[in-house]
Amino acid sequence: MKLRSLRAQLSLWHAGLLAVTLVSLAGLTYVMLRQMLHSRADAALEDYAETTAKTIAATLYQSTVGQRQLPKFLSNDLQSWGRYIQVIDSRGNVREVSDALRSHPLPVSTTALVRGMKGLSTFETVTNLGEHPVRIVTVPVQMGSKVPYLVQAGASLEGVDATLQRASAILLVLTPSVLLVGLLGGWLLVGRALKPVDEMTRAALEIESSSLDRRIVPPRTDDEIGRLAAAFNEMIARLDRSFRQIQQFTADASHELKTPLTTMRGEAEVALMSDLTPEEYRKVLRSIIEEVERMSAIVENLLLLARADANAVQLKREAVALHDIVMTVYEQMEAIARRKGVSLELEEIDEATVEGDPLWLQQIVTNLLNNAIKYTPEGGKVSVTLKGEVKGEGRRRQAGENDDFPLLPLTSSHFPFVVLSVSDTGVGIPPEHLPHIFDRFYRVDAGRSRDAGGSGLGLNIVKWAVEAHGGTIAVESEVGKGTTFTVRLPQVPGPAEDAEDAKAQRRDVEVV
Ligand code: ADP
Repeated sequence: MKLRSLRAQLSLWHAGLLAVTLVSLAGLTYVMLRQMLHSRADAALEDYAETTAKTIAATLYQSTVGQRQLPKFLSNDLQSWGRYIQVIDSRGNVREVSDALRSHPLPVSTTALVRGMKGLSTFETVTNLGEHPVRIVTVPVQMGSKVPYLVQAGASLEGVDATLQRASAILLVLTPSVLLVGLLGGWLLVGRALKPVDEMTRAALEIESSSLDRRIVPPRTDDEIGRLAAAFNEMIARLDRSFRQIQQFTADASHELKTPLTTMRGEAEVALMSDLTPEEYRKVLRSIIEEVERMSAIVENLLLLARADANAVQLKREAVALHDIVMTVYEQMEAIARRKGVSLELEEIDEATVEGDPLWLQQIVTNLLNNAIKYTPEGGKVSVTLKGEVKGEGRRRQAGENDDFPLLPLTSSHFPFVVLSVSDTGVGIPPEHLPHIFDRFYRVDAGRSRDAGGSGLGLNIVKWAVEAHGGTIAVESEVGKGTTFTVRLPQVPGPAEDAEDAKAQRRDVEVV
């Protein structure tokens, strides 16, 4: 048995506590039993002595003065019950004894005599009278204020001793037996309770990265061990998910990089095998550069995501005019949209300031606009809006509202959020794909996306960036009709408003 094992430690504690409890209980039982037996014996003895004393007093009262004689009723008294009785006078001389005491009267102690003369009873235990100790009580025969005689009654403590001996024998056998049963039971119970922990340890040791789909079987689910097993299983499930994600990510990334590599190799091999004109060679090289650019974009995105995963991206925290960013991206994309025959329109652009990193905010708008143009066929339309979201009710007048009610002018500090939406009249996304489009490398139509230069990472990057800015992103789509991406970002007071607020405060100060 290893002393450091939990089972040994618990069992030892249990044994110690049980032993202390049982020994105290046995000791207490013995002491209480002894006290009870002694006090009952004393009470009976005192009762006997007092009855005798009263009888003597009554007899003495009845006899004529001067002829006061002790009654002769002690000789055949209760000695057969194991009790002895004697009468002594005030000087301690034995005047009457029961038959059993004729040769050996009870000893008379000075204390008992003195106390008796004061009208008090005294109990004493004498050990030298025989085999067993004898308990003696001395009570006064009270006649008014005088005490002419004292009655001494004695009883052997043989019965009490025998009972106590039997009781201690029982306790001496019972205590260790109960202790032994308790110890054995404790050892077995602790072992039973800890068995699942052993099993869990074995199972945990057997689970490796290749067998993360294995689970620990909890013995019962509603107790501590069961809950531990369930928590352990949940942890393995999370690990399993992360491992699978990493595996999937690695497989997807390799696949993504393999495609342009295969294309480049094919083109280069064909070019090498045949004699081409310089113009044709240039064409091949241009195509190869295109593939290299695509690969660079993928690698760049992968690096970005890897850094985001490792929390290694340092986002700037500065006030950024989001409307300016939307305008810049619009200007960059407008020509691309026109070349594709898609009209790109800015519908309603409110001024809005958000706190964040301008490069990342630009990335969000670029990716969304790029996707909208990419997945909208010729003749379609992509529209962009940027609107503040009203904070309190009644700020913005609704149709049909009482026009007499004066409304405060709206400033961006009344809008806690700014909403950027990018809508297109493109191919749309089937509903079963909607929950996955923000996943890495997820593409509804891989062929179409790759042809359009996509790698399935764009929306994942957008989602990460939006959330890193404390915002949310949502998508609504209908196949064949179009898609709308809605980004909500927390708004902060713009620099212009800050200046106005400061000016207003200055004015207030002047007025005061
Ligand atoms: P990709 O580089 O393939 O465009 P994204 O992560 O940007 O990767 O988008 C994931 C997938 O979501 C795309 O492959 C496409 O199927 C779908 N998607 C994204 N935006 C749109 C859109 N505006 N209209 C239709 N489908 C879209």
